[in-house]
Formats: sequence, C-alpha cells, structure tokens
Amino acid sequence: MNIAAIYELFLAHPNVTTDTRKITEGAIFFALKGPNFNGNNFAANALAQGAAYCICDEKQPTNDHRIIYTDDVLTTLQAIAKHHRQQFNIPFIAITGSNGKTTTKELVHAVLSEHYKCYTTVGNLNNHIGVPLTILSIKKDAEIAIIEMGANHQKEIESYCTYTLPTHGLITNCGKAHLEGFGGVEGVRKGKGELFKYLASNNGTAIINTDLDYLVPMSAGIKNIVTYGTQNGRITGFVKNDAHFVEVSINHNETLQSIHTQLAGGYNIANILSAVCIGKLFNVPDEKIKNALEHYTPSNSRSQIIIKDTNTIILDAYNANPSSMKAAIENFAHMEGNKKVVIIGGMMELGEDSVAEHTAIIKLLQKYHWYHVVLAGKDYVNVPETYLKFDDASAIANWYHQQQFENTHILIKGSRAMAMEKVLG
Ligand code: ATP
Ligand code: MG
Repeated sequence: MNIAAIYELFLAHPNVTTDTRKITEGAIFFALKGPNFNGNNFAANALAQGAAYCICDEKQPTNDHRIIYTDDVLTTLQAIAKHHRQQFNIPFIAITGSNGKTTTKELVHAVLSEHYKCYTTVGNLNNHIGVPLTILSIKKDAEIAIIEMGANHQKEIESYCTYTLPTHGLITNCGKAHLEGFGGVEGVRKGKGELFKYLASNNGTAIINTDLDYLVPMSAGIKNIVTYGTQNGRITGFVKNDAHFVEVSINHNETLQSIHTQLAGGYNIANILSAVCIGKLFNVPDEKIKNALEHYTPSNSRSQIIIKDTNTIILDAYNANPSSMKAAIENFAHMEGNKKVVIIGGMMELGEDSVAEHTAIIKLLQKYHWYHVVLAGKDYVNVPETYLKFDDASAIANWYHQQQFENTHILIKGSRAMAMEKVLG
C-alpha cells in the first residue's frame, strides 16, 4: 500500500503505537524491528487486542485484510510522519544538543503554551521512532510544535530534519556526550550542526546561545538568527540566587527581574534564557513567561531537590556525561552549605576516552573540599585514598543508610544505567 493510502488510514485511526502493550481500541500498530524484538511477530496479537490495522514488512500466516504490507515499517512510519507534518503551516521548533534538551523543550513548551496550542515530545521520545511518533501525535488545532531530537551518531539529525521540516532550531550545547558514536567533540559539533545546515538551506531561524563561541561558525548561512546569553544577545540574564532553586533575572526587563524557578543547578540559566528568548520571539507577554517558568517542575530524577530531615539531596540520576557531570559538580561546589557529600556513578558511551574522562572528574573533585566522595563505576581508577569506591548504587545504598547525616548537602548523579536513585531506595 502506498503512503497516501496509509495516511488516509491514519486520519481515520490517529492513535499510533509501536508497542503491543500499549494498544488501544482502533489504533494502528507499526510492527517495528529492534535488536531484541520483531514487531511482525506480534501483529496477530495486536489485532486481537483491538488494533484497527497492523503495518508489517514480513509475511503473516493469515490473510487478514487489516494487515498492511510495506517494504520497511520504520521508513513507512517516518514517511507518514512527513506527510502529516506537511499538513501544518506552523512553526516547528527543533531542539537538539548534548545536555539540557528535555529541560529546554519543557520550558519552551511551558512558555509557549501560555499563549498557543502547542504539541511537543512526550518525555524523552527523541529518537528515530520517537520523533515520528511525536509528529503523528500533533492534532489539527496545533499552533506550534516543539520537537526534541536526540542523536548519538552522524546523519541522525539530518534524517530527522527530512521529515520534521523544522522552521526553527536550537542547539543547547555540544559537549562530551555520546563521544563513541560521534567520534569525539568535533564529531558532536558536526552531528548537531546538521540541524543548522538544514535551517541554512531552508530559510529557517536559529536560536543561538552567544556564550558558546562554537555555535557562531556552525550557524554560517542561516539568515535569521535570534540570540540569548549571559553576556550578549537579544535576551540576556543572570543567576540571581543559586541557593536551592535557581532564581534568574533578565536584564532590561522589569517584569522578569526575579524569576523563582523550581530548577536546581545554575547551569539551567542557559535553558531558562532560551525559553525566555523563544517566548519573546513568539510575543508571549512577560507575565505569562514568568508564570510558566515559575511553575515548571522537573520530573524523572532530573535535578530534583529532596529535603529530608535536615539534609538537602540533589538527585540528578537521570543521565550523566562529562559535560553535565562537570556542570553539576561545579554548581554543587558553589552552593551554600559546608558539609557536602558527592555520590557519583559512572558515565557511559565514552569509548576509548572513558578512563581519561572519569579521571578528569576525579581531578575536578580534588579542587574542592568535600565531607565525603563516594564513587561507583569501573572506569574510576586511581581513586584517592580518602574517597570511597563501591561496585554499584545498591552497595552505596548500604553504606548510605548506615550514615547519620545531619545538615548535609548530598549530590547524587550518574548515567541512567547506573540507577543512582537506588542510593536512596
Ligand atoms: P537526554 O540525552 O537523556 O535526552 P537531555 O539533553 O534531554 O538528555 P535533560 O534531560 O534536560 O537533558 O537534562 C539531563 C541532565 O543534564 C540534567 O539533569 C543536568 O545534569 C544536565 N544539564 C541540563 N541542562 C544543562 C546545561 N545547559 N548544561 C550542562 N548540563 C546540563
Ligand atoms: Mg532528553
């Protein structure tokens, strides 16, 4: 069946899923193949659960007319998403970068939703399956769409752009994340830069953080550029107070002199400024920008502050890479409190740089005075004698629960695979 015909089915059955555990009555099931599963094997099951149609690329044992064959289910999903995207003549804002994509996406969404009907990526569905599913979740009443794009290798962002057709783009930063797949920091810039390349060739608008010098050459050829930063830009601002929750001030703006966010970590300044910048770009009134930024609360262990008895815990167990780890440690070092405990797990996907990057984190830690440093992760080698090292988060939990911390500040951070939230469990 061709794309136009499948798109007609989608219009009549707009619920799309790739997971038989999430089938709803009348949904269309896209039978994707992954490293550990083959959706084609679940087609009959999907129909039995109420799916209206199954899109398959392997012959099924039945002749059921509800099974639709295509050459490749993933390509079909992306093509249907492109077709859907083309029905909208509205801004599509793409957000990529090494760190802070979801936070930025959620802040931008909060700000724009004060004034427009917005659709955005749910949670972290930011890959070659999540991006098309996000596009397909956009309803007719949409006025703006905000799409998070995650990538760990070259040409991935370029591919998302072919069906997302972004009109606006923001690269939060190009740090040390997914070094393995991208081939070093230069590779990260090249990979993320695919978004700006697309904008340059399609008369798009880039929203640029002037604090990051490298974004300027990356944006060559883009005619429409809007800037923000702590020093220069159309929107500038600074961290007014970094006690527990960041308080931010926007320069030359009376209403936005004091934004009390519910975000932990001064590094969020960039994420907040970008949301203000985009809000202003789309003429959201200042009071509404302030309201949105003050009410946004992060979820998923992403920089949460937990006050427990007399202790303050910063739980940032959602992910970690050398840039976000450095930002979190430096931020923690500059926070108030004189009894501080750092509990950090390993960082994944660093390839041959892994030991060096973990060693750099130990060096950074040694610049400051800590009450305890507790590590878990095989690539922390040459650990100073005064630091504790455990096998994993559960082992740290045993230690943690034997301590009787009082008036202590505790930072907990590590890659998702380290499940550092278990320390508190
Ligand atoms: P993922 O790759 O998992 O989608 P992400 O880019 O969406 O991650 P967030 O989920 O917003 O990033 O934030 C994850 C962590 O990255 C935060 O908890 C924080 O430690 C760090 N972080 C967030 N924003 C920044 C920033 N602007 N600079 C450096 N680190 C940041
Ligand atoms: Mg994310």
